[in-house]
Amino acid sequence: MIDFHCHIDLYPDPAAVVAGCEKRGTYVLAVTTTPRAWEGNLALIDGKSRIRLSPGLHPELVPERHSELPILLNLISRSRYVGEVGIDGGPSLKQHIQLQDKVFRATLSECARRGGRVISIHSRGAPTQVLDALEAHRGAGIPVLHWFSGSQRELARAIQLGCWFSVGPAMLKSQKGSLLAQQMPRDRVLTETDAPFVQHRGQPLMPWDADQALSTLGSCWDETTDAVLSQIMKNFRSLTAAAQLFETLA
Ligand code: MN
Repeated sequence: MIDFHCHIDLYPDPAAVVAGCEKRGTYVLAVTTTPRAWEGNLALIDGKSRIRLSPGLHPELVPERHSELPILLNLISRSRYVGEVGIDGGPSLKQHIQLQDKVFRATLSECARRGGRVISIHSRGAPTQVLDALEAHRGAGIPVLHWFSGSQRELARAIQLGCWFSVGPAMLKSQKGSLLAQQMPRDRVLTETDAPFVQHRGQPLMPWDADQALSTLGSCWDETTDAVLSQIMKNFRSLTAAAQLFETLA
Protein backbone atom coordinates (compact mmCIF):
# COMPACT_ATOMS: atom_id res chain seq x y z
CA MET A 1 0.00 0.00 0.00
CA ILE A 2 1.06 3.57 -0.63
CA ASP A 3 0.57 6.67 1.50
CA PHE A 4 2.07 9.44 -0.57
CA HIS A 5 1.35 12.24 1.91
CA CYS A 6 1.63 11.48 5.59
CA HIS A 7 2.93 13.50 8.55
CA ILE A 8 4.49 10.57 10.41
CA ASP A 9 6.36 12.85 12.80
CA LEU A 10 3.12 14.38 14.08
CA TYR A 11 1.63 11.15 15.51
CA PRO A 12 1.88 10.81 19.30
CA ASP A 13 4.19 7.78 18.80
CA PRO A 14 5.92 8.15 15.42
CA ALA A 15 8.29 5.21 16.00
CA ALA A 16 5.32 2.86 16.44
CA VAL A 17 3.83 4.10 13.16
CA VAL A 18 7.13 3.55 11.37
CA ALA A 19 7.27 0.02 12.82
CA GLY A 20 3.67 -0.63 11.68
CA CYS A 21 4.57 0.47 8.14
CA GLU A 22 7.61 -1.82 8.15
CA LYS A 23 5.49 -4.75 9.30
CA ARG A 24 2.89 -4.21 6.58
CA GLY A 25 5.27 -3.20 3.78
CA THR A 26 3.59 0.20 3.43
CA TYR A 27 5.35 2.74 1.19
CA VAL A 28 5.21 6.26 2.62
CA LEU A 29 6.18 9.74 1.60
CA ALA A 30 6.81 11.29 5.01
CA VAL A 31 6.23 14.98 4.42
CA THR A 32 7.34 17.55 6.97
CA THR A 33 5.84 20.91 7.89
CA THR A 34 8.97 22.77 8.96
CA PRO A 35 12.56 22.60 7.73
CA ARG A 36 13.71 22.28 11.33
CA ALA A 37 11.91 18.91 11.61
CA TRP A 38 14.28 17.36 9.04
CA GLU A 39 17.04 16.03 11.29
CA GLY A 40 14.68 14.40 13.79
CA ASN A 41 12.78 12.75 10.94
CA LEU A 42 15.98 11.43 9.40
CA ALA A 43 16.72 9.60 12.64
CA LEU A 44 13.13 8.30 12.77
CA ILE A 45 13.17 6.70 9.32
CA ASP A 46 16.82 5.66 9.32
CA GLY A 47 17.28 2.46 7.33
CA LYS A 48 13.61 2.18 6.30
CA SER A 49 13.73 1.57 2.57
CA ARG A 50 10.00 2.03 1.94
CA ILE A 51 9.78 5.44 3.63
CA ARG A 52 10.91 8.53 1.80
CA LEU A 53 11.34 11.82 3.60
CA SER A 54 10.68 15.24 2.14
CA PRO A 55 11.70 18.64 3.54
CA GLY A 56 8.82 21.09 3.60
CA LEU A 57 7.40 24.33 4.91
CA HIS A 58 3.63 24.09 5.27
CA PRO A 59 1.83 27.15 3.87
CA GLU A 60 -0.13 27.54 7.12
CA LEU A 61 3.20 27.95 8.94
CA VAL A 62 4.70 30.39 6.45
CA PRO A 63 3.51 33.55 8.28
CA GLU A 64 5.45 32.63 11.43
CA ARG A 65 8.23 30.49 9.93
CA HIS A 66 9.17 32.09 6.60
CA SER A 67 12.59 32.91 8.06
CA GLU A 68 13.31 29.14 7.80
CA LEU A 69 13.10 29.29 4.00
CA PRO A 70 16.92 29.27 3.56
CA ILE A 71 17.07 26.01 5.56
CA LEU A 72 14.45 24.48 3.27
CA LEU A 73 16.25 25.63 0.13
CA ASN A 74 19.43 24.06 1.45
CA LEU A 75 17.70 20.73 2.25
CA ILE A 76 16.37 20.48 -1.29
CA SER A 77 19.87 19.44 -2.35
CA ARG A 78 19.55 16.37 -0.12
CA SER A 79 16.23 14.84 -1.15
CA ARG A 80 14.49 13.89 -4.40
CA TYR A 81 11.18 14.68 -2.72
CA VAL A 82 10.00 18.06 -1.41
CA GLY A 83 6.87 18.87 0.64
CA GLU A 84 4.63 19.81 2.15
CA VAL A 85 4.77 23.13 0.37
CA GLY A 86 2.22 25.25 -1.45
CA ILE A 87 -0.29 28.03 -0.91
CA ASP A 88 -3.41 28.16 1.29
CA GLY A 89 -6.06 30.73 0.41
CA GLY A 90 -8.33 30.04 3.38
CA PRO A 91 -9.88 32.93 5.34
CA SER A 92 -7.18 33.12 8.01
CA LEU A 93 -4.28 32.87 5.53
CA LYS A 94 -5.49 35.06 2.70
CA GLN A 95 -3.81 38.11 4.18
CA HIS A 96 -0.46 36.27 3.91
CA ILE A 97 -0.95 35.03 0.38
CA GLN A 98 1.81 37.12 -1.16
CA LEU A 99 4.33 35.90 1.36
CA GLN A 100 3.20 32.29 0.76
CA ASP A 101 3.49 32.82 -2.98
CA LYS A 102 7.01 34.18 -2.60
CA VAL A 103 8.10 31.23 -0.44
CA PHE A 104 6.48 28.68 -2.79
CA ARG A 105 8.06 30.23 -5.89
CA ALA A 106 11.48 30.35 -4.24
CA THR A 107 11.06 26.64 -3.43
CA LEU A 108 10.07 25.77 -7.00
CA SER A 109 12.93 27.81 -8.34
CA GLU A 110 15.44 25.91 -6.17
CA CYS A 111 13.88 22.58 -7.25
CA ALA A 112 14.40 23.66 -10.87
CA ARG A 113 17.97 24.78 -10.18
CA ARG A 114 18.67 21.32 -8.72
CA GLY A 115 17.34 19.60 -11.85
CA GLY A 116 13.84 18.79 -10.58
CA ARG A 117 12.13 17.19 -7.60
CA VAL A 118 8.91 15.33 -6.85
CA ILE A 119 6.91 17.95 -4.94
CA SER A 120 3.91 17.26 -2.67
CA ILE A 121 1.78 20.39 -2.91
CA HIS A 122 -1.01 21.91 -0.83
CA SER A 123 -3.38 24.11 -2.86
CA ARG A 124 -6.50 24.49 -0.68
CA GLY A 125 -8.33 27.69 -1.51
CA ALA A 126 -5.57 28.76 -3.92
CA PRO A 127 -5.45 26.32 -6.85
CA THR A 128 -5.04 29.05 -9.46
CA GLN A 129 -2.15 30.72 -7.60
CA VAL A 130 -0.46 27.34 -7.24
CA LEU A 131 -0.91 26.53 -10.95
CA ASP A 132 0.35 29.99 -11.95
CA ALA A 133 3.51 29.35 -9.93
CA LEU A 134 3.95 25.88 -11.45
CA GLU A 135 3.50 27.27 -14.94
CA ALA A 136 6.21 29.84 -14.25
CA HIS A 137 8.61 27.11 -12.98
CA ARG A 138 8.17 24.27 -15.44
CA GLY A 139 11.59 22.82 -14.67
CA ALA A 140 10.70 22.28 -10.99
CA GLY A 141 10.09 18.59 -11.56
CA ILE A 142 6.94 16.56 -10.96
CA PRO A 143 4.22 18.34 -8.98
CA VAL A 144 1.90 16.05 -7.00
CA LEU A 145 -1.20 18.00 -5.97
CA HIS A 146 -2.27 16.58 -2.63
CA TRP A 147 -6.02 16.60 -1.77
CA PHE A 148 -6.81 18.77 -4.78
CA SER A 149 -10.08 20.63 -4.28
CA GLY A 150 -10.20 23.11 -7.17
CA SER A 151 -12.77 23.37 -9.92
CA GLN A 152 -13.08 21.06 -12.93
CA ARG A 153 -11.48 23.79 -14.99
CA GLU A 154 -8.54 24.14 -12.62
CA LEU A 155 -8.17 20.36 -12.65
CA ALA A 156 -8.00 20.40 -16.45
CA ARG A 157 -5.27 23.04 -16.25
CA ALA A 158 -3.35 21.02 -13.66
CA ILE A 159 -3.51 17.95 -15.89
CA GLN A 160 -2.29 19.98 -18.82
CA LEU A 161 0.64 21.22 -16.71
CA GLY A 162 1.68 17.62 -16.03
CA CYS A 163 0.55 17.42 -12.42
CA TRP A 164 0.04 14.18 -10.53
CA PHE A 165 -2.53 13.80 -7.76
CA SER A 166 -2.59 12.10 -4.36
CA VAL A 167 -6.08 11.35 -3.12
CA GLY A 168 -7.25 9.96 0.20
CA PRO A 169 -10.30 8.48 1.89
CA ALA A 170 -11.36 11.87 3.32
CA MET A 171 -11.24 13.65 -0.05
CA LEU A 172 -13.14 10.86 -1.78
CA LYS A 173 -15.93 10.94 0.79
CA SER A 174 -17.24 14.16 -0.74
CA GLN A 175 -19.08 14.15 -4.02
CA LYS A 176 -16.87 16.95 -5.30
CA GLY A 177 -13.73 14.97 -4.46
CA SER A 178 -14.91 11.82 -6.16
CA LEU A 179 -16.03 13.76 -9.25
CA LEU A 180 -12.54 15.26 -9.49
CA ALA A 181 -10.96 11.82 -9.07
CA GLN A 182 -13.11 10.57 -11.92
CA GLN A 183 -11.49 13.14 -14.25
CA MET A 184 -7.89 12.53 -13.17
CA PRO A 185 -5.58 10.63 -15.53
CA ARG A 186 -5.45 7.19 -13.95
CA ASP A 187 -1.75 6.85 -14.58
CA ARG A 188 -1.02 9.97 -12.48
CA VAL A 189 -2.90 9.15 -9.27
CA LEU A 190 -1.50 7.96 -5.93
CA THR A 191 -3.18 7.29 -2.60
CA GLU A 192 -2.55 9.27 0.60
CA THR A 193 -3.94 9.80 4.09
CA ASP A 194 -2.74 13.30 5.18
CA ALA A 195 -2.75 11.71 8.63
CA PRO A 196 -2.67 12.28 11.51
CA PHE A 197 -4.75 15.36 10.56
CA VAL A 198 -7.36 13.08 9.03
CA GLN A 199 -9.28 11.02 11.55
CA HIS A 200 -11.87 8.29 11.44
CA ARG A 201 -14.12 7.72 14.49
CA GLY A 202 -11.89 9.90 16.65
CA GLN A 203 -8.68 8.05 15.74
CA PRO A 204 -6.09 9.30 13.27
CA LEU A 205 -5.88 7.26 10.08
CA MET A 206 -2.73 5.16 9.83
CA PRO A 207 -0.60 5.20 6.65
CA TRP A 208 -1.86 1.74 5.65
CA ASP A 209 -5.45 3.09 5.83
CA ALA A 210 -4.68 4.83 2.52
CA ASP A 211 -6.05 1.63 0.97
CA GLN A 212 -9.54 2.75 2.04
CA ALA A 213 -9.36 5.04 -0.99
CA LEU A 214 -9.11 2.08 -3.39
CA SER A 215 -12.74 0.98 -3.34
CA THR A 216 -14.02 4.54 -3.85
CA LEU A 217 -11.55 5.03 -6.70
CA GLY A 218 -12.86 1.74 -8.08
CA SER A 219 -16.41 3.14 -8.17
CA CYS A 220 -15.17 6.41 -9.72
CA TRP A 221 -13.28 4.58 -12.43
CA ASP A 222 -15.60 1.60 -12.82
CA GLU A 223 -12.76 -0.77 -11.94
CA THR A 224 -12.30 -3.49 -9.34
CA THR A 225 -10.40 -2.66 -6.16
CA ASP A 226 -7.65 -5.06 -7.27
CA ALA A 227 -7.33 -3.33 -10.63
CA VAL A 228 -7.09 0.06 -8.89
CA LEU A 229 -4.43 -1.24 -6.51
CA SER A 230 -2.32 -2.56 -9.36
CA GLN A 231 -2.70 0.75 -11.22
CA ILE A 232 -1.62 2.73 -8.12
CA MET A 233 1.40 0.43 -7.58
CA LYS A 234 2.36 0.86 -11.21
CA ASN A 235 2.05 4.65 -10.91
CA PHE A 236 4.17 4.63 -7.76
CA ARG A 237 6.90 2.61 -9.47
CA SER A 238 6.91 4.95 -12.45
CA LEU A 239 7.08 8.07 -10.25
CA THR A 240 9.88 6.72 -8.06
CA ALA A 241 11.79 5.65 -11.18
CA ALA A 242 11.45 9.20 -12.53
CA ALA A 243 12.59 10.59 -9.16
CA GLN A 244 15.74 8.44 -9.33
CA LEU A 245 16.84 10.55 -12.28
CA PHE A 246 16.95 13.67 -10.08
CA GLU A 247 20.39 14.18 -8.58
CA THR A 248 21.04 14.84 -4.91
CA LEU A 249 24.12 15.68 -2.90
CA ALA A 250 23.50 13.34 0.04
MN1 MN B 1 -0.68 17.59 4.83
